[in-house]
Amino acid sequence: MKILHTLKELREELNQARKANHKIGLVPTMGNLHEGHLRLVDRARESNSFTVATIFVNPLQFGENEDFDSYPRTLEKDSSLLAARNCDVLFAPNIFEVYPGGLKAESTVHVPDITKHHCGASREKHFDGVATIVTKLFNMVQPDQAIFGEKDFQQLMVIRKLTNDLCFPIEIVGVPTCREPSGLALSSRNGYLNEEEHLRASKLFAVLQQTKKALESNEDIVVARQQAISSLTENGFKLDYLNIASVDTLLPAKDADKEIVILAAVFLGATRLIDNIRVSLTD
Ligand code: AMP
Repeated sequence: MKILHTLKELREELNQARKANHKIGLVPTMGNLHEGHLRLVDRARESNSFTVATIFVNPLQFGENEDFDSYPRTLEKDSSLLAARNCDVLFAPNIFEVYPGGLKAESTVHVPDITKHHCGASREKHFDGVATIVTKLFNMVQPDQAIFGEKDFQQLMVIRKLTNDLCFPIEIVGVPTCREPSGLALSSRNGYLNEEEHLRASKLFAVLQQTKKALESNEDIVVARQQAISSLTENGFKLDYLNIASVDTLLPAKDADKEIVILAAVFLGATRLIDNIRVSLTD
């Protein structure tokens, strides 16, 4: 696996790959890789002959009081993990490579509507940061396919919309959330949890599963949501949000909706965890 840090090196490498008729898969990450990220690489390799993973902790998607400075940077370990999964290129640019105009002077990408609720409501400008970095990576790599995790469900929807709206000829692939045996979704931020919090964190997915069951048993959406909020609070989570939404619009689910997603963000101590579960209701 080649480890590249500049756009010039990346473009040279990709020109070669395109000349050799490779199909290029892109896996964007912020590093501190775990099995969830590596599954995205596996998925990229299934349908592409050349896989590029990127590691860049994107300042634009962090709020002022968030963990940009303390976000774990583990490039050496990450590159070994990627090499072991037969990734072809790791692109790990520095900030000047990605934001040549400086953060304040940069053009940004805003995806409307679908960014209004959930994480978009509690993390102002977060999705502008995500949409901007993903657009830049799409332009830098020009992949045939780009792979993202369903763990960040709203992010995946934002990326699908921007790909469509901006006419990128890129297929977006979503990969199911990789979990610990306890049900806890793997996350780079799980490392912030102490032992007791880590044990308790698995309750988040348990509550999502209970709520899914309640909806499948025709529980009223408002009541199911209220029960989920109570269970999370009883389990010691501080709630950012728990919302039951239509999969297509991410707006609050209505009784007639059949494809639903339950989305949650909670705090355990200072650590913010997100998760979601899909529900398909039949008549
Ligand atoms: P991040 O490094 O957190 O920005 O994540 C990079 C990519 O990995 C995103 O597409 C995430 O949705 C995906 N991802 C993170 N955690 C998981 C997980 N547990 N299972 C599947 N994909 C994940």
